[in-house]
Amino acid sequence: MAARTEPAPLPPARSADVVIVGAGPVGLLLAGDLARSGVDVLVLEERTEPITESRASTVHTRTMDLLAARDLLGELGPPAGGPGHFGGLRLELTAADPEHPYAGQWKAPQTSLEAVLGRRAQRHGAVVWRGCRVIDVVPGDGGDGTAEGHVDVAAVAADGRSMAVRGGFVVGCDGESSTVRAAAGFAFPGEDATKELFRADVDGIEIPNRRFERRENGLAIAARNPEGVTRVMVHVRGRRPEPRTTAPEFAEVAQAWWDVTGEDITHGRPLWVNAFGNARRQADRYRRGRVLLAGDAAHIQLPVGGQALNLGLQDAAELSWRLAAQFGEPPDDGTSTEPLGAADREELLEGYHAVRHPIGRRTLTNIAAQSELLLGGPEVDALRTVLGELLDMPPVRRHLATMISAVDTPLPPVPQPRTNRPDPARPTPVRPGTHSQSRRRHRPAAAAIPTRRKATMDLLAGKTALVTGSSRSIGRATAIRLAREGALVAVHYASNEQAADETVAAIEADGGRAFTLQAELGAPGDVHELFLGLEAGLKERTGSTDLNILVNNAGIMGGVAPEDVTPELFDRLYAVNARAPFFIVQRGLQNMPDGGRIINISSGLTRFANPQEVAYAMTKGAVDQLTLHYAKHLGPRGITVNSVGPGITRNDSPVFGIPEAVQQMGAMSVFNRVGETDDIAAVVAFLAQDEARWITGSYLDASGGTLLGGQ
Ligand code: NAP
Repeated sequence: MAARTEPAPLPPARSADVVIVGAGPVGLLLAGDLARSGVDVLVLEERTEPITESRASTVHTRTMDLLAARDLLGELGPPAGGPGHFGGLRLELTAADPEHPYAGQWKAPQTSLEAVLGRRAQRHGAVVWRGCRVIDVVPGDGGDGTAEGHVDVAAVAADGRSMAVRGGFVVGCDGESSTVRAAAGFAFPGEDATKELFRADVDGIEIPNRRFERRENGLAIAARNPEGVTRVMVHVRGRRPEPRTTAPEFAEVAQAWWDVTGEDITHGRPLWVNAFGNARRQADRYRRGRVLLAGDAAHIQLPVGGQALNLGLQDAAELSWRLAAQFGEPPDDGTSTEPLGAADREELLEGYHAVRHPIGRRTLTNIAAQSELLLGGPEVDALRTVLGELLDMPPVRRHLATMISAVDTPLPPVPQPRTNRPDPARPTPVRPGTHSQSRRRHRPAAAAIPTRRKATMDLLAGKTALVTGSSRSIGRATAIRLAREGALVAVHYASNEQAADETVAAIEADGGRAFTLQAELGAPGDVHELFLGLEAGLKERTGSTDLNILVNNAGIMGGVAPEDVTPELFDRLYAVNARAPFFIVQRGLQNMPDGGRIINISSGLTRFANPQEVAYAMTKGAVDQLTLHYAKHLGPRGITVNSVGPGITRNDSPVFGIPEAVQQMGAMSVFNRVGETDDIAAVVAFLAQDEARWITGSYLDASGGTLLGGQ
């Protein structure tokens, strides 16, 4: 027990079946489950208000299952997918189980998650007392969990009053520096932090987004949200963590950012600042008698890739049905309808530690490995290279993605209301350990994730794409193709709204997702307008404004003899075909996570001469320069930039209605036909996928051999 320096607690002011300490997502999920099943729950929380910053926002497949089983996905809003990583190396989490309805990685800001779980807990009757700082936890039964036992909790209210509450059980969901853990005497072996990261939400700064940028002096991560607030995270290599009791000053964060990136963010307005490290500790037991631990109270780890939050929520779900079963009804896991005896109850409670402790240990090991890969210096470069090679192997990807997604861990039943009222929304519970069966049975009825026809390999699942000029022809075929591979596609057009709607209809008929977006390129404010529409469309559908794939396709041709080209025509061609793509790339990079794809549609006319198109060909030559130079610029971010050069490709030009002309044009290709839009779309789709990661700065000839000459 911790030494008690406060006055002895007053007689219990209130008692509850279960007292939960901590009203974060873990405590609230547990509270909601227990209260729904008829257990009297009291939650004590030190903070007077819910947090306003989202420390974590990544939700993995197994957690999505838990939320779906509680029918909470609708309330959370459309989940946004995104790419995963292992120690900063890209790892598609869909590899764990591509068929799973929640395959991949999802975004749900902690603030929304907490709000949704809090509303649910209160809806079912859990009582949350805020402003209560727990100072001691005293088991009343010698800690052996006997039937008659209880646990006394001493707390101090915000106004300084001493409070005492008594719980049949007490669960510490009170985070890293858990008072419950310390007071109840849990051992917490592990290692202190050797590395530190700063994290800050900063308003009023304009810095490029970066996913995991390893630089000479450390690691830098930046992500700007649609409200213009940038989340920066930075680690200065070689700097030991400071002993801290309070958050760092923003000046310290700005200095670290400067040291690593050379960028000045001191003028920014910090909204939230904190520091965290790579400490790794795990409670030796998750249960001592009637005191239990869940979430960060049970294990601390570098919060990388959202695993801390997911691990905690999964702890809570495993605990809730076991704890609910202590109160009257047998667990609703389909195994028995007899009331439980003391031995069964004991076994159920012990089972919580037995199931979750090894899972926690495995996760901590995996996070420790990621932390080395992410925060290590040049000494880990070789390791990263080798692991990168291993990640090309499907079994390796599957293994790591499974571990992170936790789809191989038990899917616990949701405790039922004690009255055993039928709840049609609730899936059939299953016993832990019967994973493959359980997954099938838990396939959600929820319409939160649209079903897609599995016609392709879904190589772009979870990705977002913008295809400019995709109302017609090459752009349309490209949009359809990218959507068929699983991408959500923004279908852009200038004036032909109906054609753009038709593109979207074709995609939807195919089971894909798309939306239209209008902006006249070459007109003043074109790029701004484009991104206004793009960000709104993406945000609405994914909850984020991340853009993974940009296809600069929109273009106009000249068809004018050299002597007839006017300055106005020249400027117009340049504005649409060269200037707009340049500024779209420049602006798009704010939205593009590392590993993105930029594909610029050039033209075979940059390689073979047609004087009627000299001005047009010059604009496409400029596009190729855009490709070349940006490819070098974006290499460090793993973004590839390539040009695709179509030859003569069928579009709605009337010339394609004249058979002789088509024959003549077709004769320029070694295949003796004109290109079809699908021919080009296939090349773009290839460049967009992960498999094309080693191609950048290239001009891909997609002219059907027109360049080979001699036809
Ligand atoms: P297309 O049939 O003429 O369609 C052009 C697309 O771009 C349409 O979606 C159009 O939108 C949009 N667009 C045109 N001007 C725009 C502007 N000012 N602002 C915004 N959007 C605009 O074109 P395509 O033949 O498929 O060609 C696509 C790309 O491939 C172009 O970059 C072209 O230079 C290149 N290319 C084509 C060929 C070929 O033989 N077809 C050969 C080599 C290269 P609306 O529908 O709203 O007008």
